[in-house]
Amino acid sequence: MIKNEESGAGLSAAEASGFSAGHLFASPFRNGNNDALATAIAGAVQQINHLKPSQANSSAFLGNNAGLVFTRGSFHDAKLQERGKPLDEVIGEVTAMFEGLPNWGHPLNMSNICPQENTAAIIASMLTQVFSPNILEAEYAWNTARAELESAAILADLAGWDARKAGGLYTYGGSGCWMYQLKYALSRVLPDSRNKGIRTDAKIICSEQAHYAMFNSTDWTGLGMDHIITVKTLPGSNTLDPDHLEEILKKCTARNIPVISVICTMATTDACAFDPVKKVRDLLDRYPNSPEYGKALLYCDAVIGWAWMAFKDYDFTNNPMGLSESVLEAAGRNLKAVEEIRYADAFGVDFHKSFAPLASSMFVYRDAAEFEQLLKRKEAAYLQERGDYNPHSYTLEVSRSASGSMAGWATLTYLGSEGIRAVLARGLENKRYLLHKMAAYPDMVCANQADNGSVVLLRIYSRDTHAFSQYENELCDSACQDALSRHNKLTESIGELLWQWFREGKKINGMFTPYLSLTKGFRPAIYTGCDDSDAVVYALKVYPVNVFITEEIMDHALVCIRAARDEVMPYFNSN
Ligand SMILES: *Cc1c(COP(=O)(O)O)cnc(C)c1O
Repeated sequence: MIKNEESGAGLSAAEASGFSAGHLFASPFRNGNNDALATAIAGAVQQINHLKPSQANSSAFLGNNAGLVFTRGSFHDAKLQERGKPLDEVIGEVTAMFEGLPNWGHPLNMSNICPQENTAAIIASMLTQVFSPNILEAEYAWNTARAELESAAILADLAGWDARKAGGLYTYGGSGCWMYQLKYALSRVLPDSRNKGIRTDAKIICSEQAHYAMFNSTDWTGLGMDHIITVKTLPGSNTLDPDHLEEILKKCTARNIPVISVICTMATTDACAFDPVKKVRDLLDRYPNSPEYGKALLYCDAVIGWAWMAFKDYDFTNNPMGLSESVLEAAGRNLKAVEEIRYADAFGVDFHKSFAPLASSMFVYRDAAEFEQLLKRKEAAYLQERGDYNPHSYTLEVSRSASGSMAGWATLTYLGSEGIRAVLARGLENKRYLLHKMAAYPDMVCANQADNGSVVLLRIYSRDTHAFSQYENELCDSACQDALSRHNKLTESIGELLWQWFREGKKINGMFTPYLSLTKGFRPAIYTGCDDSDAVVYALKVYPVNVFITEEIMDHALVCIRAARDEVMPYFNSN
């Protein structure tokens, strides 16, 4: 603390220390249309835009250097410097960190469910950085709370719930939603656990194809990863097998082991499988926890699949968007599956999986009064509740950035159902096109033909192999398990080579090669037991969901996959 006597007569504290911090912050006052921060931000966006290629025939990463410049060991000697760097220099270094990053909107990016963010969501979430609303409570969020409240109402309404009774919270990802459902369920089924900890042998149940996030949440809540029971999935559809679930519930009931929650995945990342929520609800009603425990929670991990609800009011008969027959069919089936969310207690939404910047996930619950009462904590003494929306006393986080809520809200508002449908339909049309083109190559087979999602999972064999029957055997005949493993290795090598080509900026037929992906376990073989982790299907993954992909690009992607196969094959045969 600087006392007046010590700082010397007539000198301000800043002058006395020889450093004024004023230039480090934006002025709280407007300066006509010459706002320094606005100019600096516009300049920075222009600067980072220079990393985009100027022409379509280019690689799908930003900048010119695809190499990894920084690794874990690069900064062990870093120290806080006495003197900060000038703004231009700092922003220049920030821009440079984006060098080599995937350019998500590039037509050659078909890597995964990581498409480009919509413009309104980018701007909306960036603006929250300028004035930093904090949606922990009304005083610090004020009217920006609208983004969270209105998103929750829209999503609850889409699910067929009463939006006046439902609620929703933005959180840090689909795994945050998983964490929320587990905490909600634990507080309901084992209310004592909130104070005394989890002292009861209790289980959560989800399918063997549920998302990896099941481990994070059981681990971090202390329920323990050993307390997950996985239900087999049905071979054709990859969805949870209700008969197996019934067996599990019977056993739990017989041993008086309470079920904390059952999780329906809607949809799985690769297979686009939707678990049967209505059947799960009926089974939970038939096998309730014994009376000393609360009622098990039914959660839908709909972080990817929620968007199909945008087809809810679509006129499938007159088809005003002119969607093709097969796309209409797939969209209709996905809609029907995802409409079963209405039977759940809560569901999760990841806007960042298809439309918006990270992280913009919402956990939506049907009964806000129950949820809030179950999770309520004592008020913090340093906060005063000024308005009527103060979620801090029941949220996982304390301070919460409004950036995710703005991104999610802007996505719903800017795209509308029609925009969401258009994005989803585009992916399906692209998949349809790829399948049509693949039909000309007998050595390639689509491993997820039956799915209604946009991803194409494909296996390619030697030129003289009839891929369809070979894959059929590997999948169904346990005598072919060795061939399955061998061809999994081939698939992996092709995937690795394609990755290398993409990073090197290799050209085939004068065009840069695509950014594709690989799945090492999209589904188990039919003959496999639950724990036989070897007998799973690897596949090359083409996720053609970004809106700039063209037919020419998809043709080229298939050519590149075939070229990679040809290059890997001799090495593979000799091993
Ligand atoms: C991506 C995903 C998650 C995890 O979400 P994050 O946003 O990465 O935390 C959970 N479930 C499903 C089905 C997912 O696809």
